[in-house]
Amino acid sequence: MFNIHIAQAKNKYEFEELIKVFLKSSEFQLICAEETDGTDENDGTNRTKIIVPAFTNDSKVGEKKEKELKNQIKRFLYKELQQLTGETPDWGILTGVRPVKLAGELLQREGSEDKARKILVDDYYLTHEKAQLLMDIVAYQRKRVIVSPSDAVGLYLGIPFCPTRCVYCSFPANKGTEAGISAYLVALHSEISFVSEMMRQKGWHPESVYIGGGTPTTLSELQLDELLKHVTEAFDLSRLKEFTVEAGRPDTITVGKLEVIKKYNVQRISINPQSMNRTTLERIGRVHQPEDIEEAFRLARAAGIPMINTDVIAGLPEEETEDFVHTMEQILALAPENITVHTLALKRASRLKEIDSEYSYKQGKRVRAMLNRAKEMLDHAGFKPYYLYRQKQMTGNFENVGYARGDTAGIYNIRIMEEAQTILALGAGGISKVYYPEENRLERIANVSNYEIYIERLDEMLQRKEEQLLK
Ligand code: SF4
Repeated sequence: MFNIHIAQAKNKYEFEELIKVFLKSSEFQLICAEETDGTDENDGTNRTKIIVPAFTNDSKVGEKKEKELKNQIKRFLYKELQQLTGETPDWGILTGVRPVKLAGELLQREGSEDKARKILVDDYYLTHEKAQLLMDIVAYQRKRVIVSPSDAVGLYLGIPFCPTRCVYCSFPANKGTEAGISAYLVALHSEISFVSEMMRQKGWHPESVYIGGGTPTTLSELQLDELLKHVTEAFDLSRLKEFTVEAGRPDTITVGKLEVIKKYNVQRISINPQSMNRTTLERIGRVHQPEDIEEAFRLARAAGIPMINTDVIAGLPEEETEDFVHTMEQILALAPENITVHTLALKRASRLKEIDSEYSYKQGKRVRAMLNRAKEMLDHAGFKPYYLYRQKQMTGNFENVGYARGDTAGIYNIRIMEEAQTILALGAGGISKVYYPEENRLERIANVSNYEIYIERLDEMLQRKEEQLLK
């Protein structure tokens, strides 16, 4: 057990995230200045004390001073915990969701890739491989994606339904009754009309439309047709660059739905196997087989869908590196345009977390080997990493990386990570982020995540959007 004292900590949470990379929650107590009530002095246990010294920073002022102070504390904690645990986490002191954004800012400030990479390694303690991965992604994005025009926005529409619930799922995904799905769509159609009017008043147009979930193809052909029809009629799509529907689960894909998708000019779909191993699919609560993935690919290609993304997950229960490599081989043989390699993240709301609360710590080394193999195989097959994000509670504290073949990167995925464009999210669980370029700042507008409450309180959410967007 460890007692960790940080006298200068204003926000305990930020340091807790870093400590959790090394230690389980049950293994430490974090004591900040205002909380020092002597409990650790007299608890009668043999706890190891880590006392973070007070740092001074006279060369910096304001926000920069605060930021540097946090980093000094983090660097101290990292070194101490590295020594005590023998662990050297790949992402150093970085715990945030968007390390690519930091790499881009460093490149902008330093004017050279070498300098930016050196800072990532020397000051943030990233491994050379992770620092290089970030620089590769920044380079890809700068070359292929232009800065967002100020009147362009991303649109996200959430369909919170899935045929079954995966064991690691923490999303508000529901099986949904026929009546429930119908009522939800009525509410969502109202929000579409409302937001399209708001956008017209603001002079905004969509750069990308992303229909995600859940699994949007849980909808019937008719429901999907009505939804896509409404989207294409409500918004000015004359400058649209990308239209995506997540098909996700192959057991929801039919020829009819693919024809509907094609009819409305959707260029991108996701078919997400997660694993191509039969026993794993059963274990994680999926009702499809590896052959269903192959069949879904065949149907999508026959329907003329030009771009397919596939998601795979490293670190699924009881999978060894060779199982994961088998999945990668099978997926590469299907020749998707994009492959997103996720690291399993277990949030509190997932069933797997309830079954085994320490799962994420146990699987760390195995996942590192899986991700390295994935990278080698994808490099070899001509894929380039184009976006990356991290989540809390990721197995081994790794990352999710989207890879693209040629010029097929998903714009929406890049925009949502760079946080320099307004994203309007519609439907249950949608979190809109309005971007103010003058202040380089985002404001969030959240819809409730429960779909039944979303239906009930729709008016309240529309009002909230109107107030924020038109203020
Ligand atoms: S497909 Fe995705 S959203 Fe649906 S249950 Fe599985 S993890 Fe959750």
